[in-house]
Amino acid sequence: MSLLTKYGPDSRIVAGGHSLIPMMKLRLAQPQALIDINDLTDLARISVEDGTLCVGAMVRHADLLASAVAGEHFPIFHDAEKVVADPVVRNRGTVGGSLCQADPSEDLSAAFAAVRGEAVIEGPGGRRVVPIREFFTGPYQTVVGENELLVQLRVPISSSASAYQKVERRAGDWAVAAAGAELRIEGTQLVSVGIGLTALGAPNFHAPEAEEYLLAGPAVDERFAEAGRIAARHCNPVADQRGPADYKRHLAEVLTVRALRRARTRWHGNNHQEEG
Ligand SMILES: Cc1cc2nc3c(=O)[nH]c(=O)nc-3n(C[C@H](O)[C@H](O)[C@H](O)COP(=O)(O)OP(=O)(O)OC[C@H]3O[C@@H](n4cnc5c(N)ncnc54)[C@H](O)[C@@H]3O)c2cc1C
Repeated sequence: MSLLTKYGPDSRIVAGGHSLIPMMKLRLAQPQALIDINDLTDLARISVEDGTLCVGAMVRHADLLASAVAGEHFPIFHDAEKVVADPVVRNRGTVGGSLCQADPSEDLSAAFAAVRGEAVIEGPGGRRVVPIREFFTGPYQTVVGENELLVQLRVPISSSASAYQKVERRAGDWAVAAAGAELRIEGTQLVSVGIGLTALGAPNFHAPEAEEYLLAGPAVDERFAEAGRIAARHCNPVADQRGPADYKRHLAEVLTVRALRRARTRWHGNNHQEEG
């Protein structure tokens, strides 16, 4: 922390380096000092504390993918990590680096938004906790200050099921579009739901109107379809080499529905109930 204070805005933290080093090569980042946090082994742990899944900022993508405890409670992370880049990137790239890079097509941003995770940020003034849905302030921008460090991601564990669906042009590529969902069902009613979206220009990587629509109604296909349409309307995709905006908006609808249905199937599988 003292190094951050000493070098201030001229410095950059380096975790896995998979985003920062390419940016330096392109002269998009020109830090005067690099602060390597790879020795902070305390930040490389995944644990459950007081009913909360805690993922250290230095946890590598590959470790989150392999984590039994994360996969048990939040299969959405397993789904998402399986399709983040390739093994080379996953072996070095970190969860914290991904979120701090705040790329608008980042997979974990949507996954953490779906499950309403929290970011623990440490700085000279101590620790603060920020809901991940308030963590991003724009493309490549977050609430983490110049002399602060993201230290941990937290997700309260409740009985839920989750899933992540992504369309990519080829294996290992960034998302053309992707959606994640987390839900809880009582009887036939949805009593809790989160929808995360990435590469779609959805503010803060989530779809609040679709969540609101679904809540307290039955978890049936017709309502999922309408939620998909609402989520698509919430998005502001841009045309690029991965496809035209209309195609991406269509994907927003289809992938939202697929993520919801997959999460519902898991819910019923976990709870040995028949589908409503
Ligand atoms: C070829 C390739 C393909 C990729 N494909 C995908 C993909 O399909 N999906 C996807 O989601 N991502 C993809 N990525 C992005 C990849 O996930 C990120 O590059 C990587 O996870 C970033 O983590 P890092 O530890 O390497 O971060 P770094 O490059 O070390 O850091 C990134 C930024 O975050 C800051 N930072 C890092 N850690 C902290 C911290 N703890 N606190 C505060 N600031 C911090 C750094 O200063 C820097 O500004 C791809 C990357 C590559 C190179």
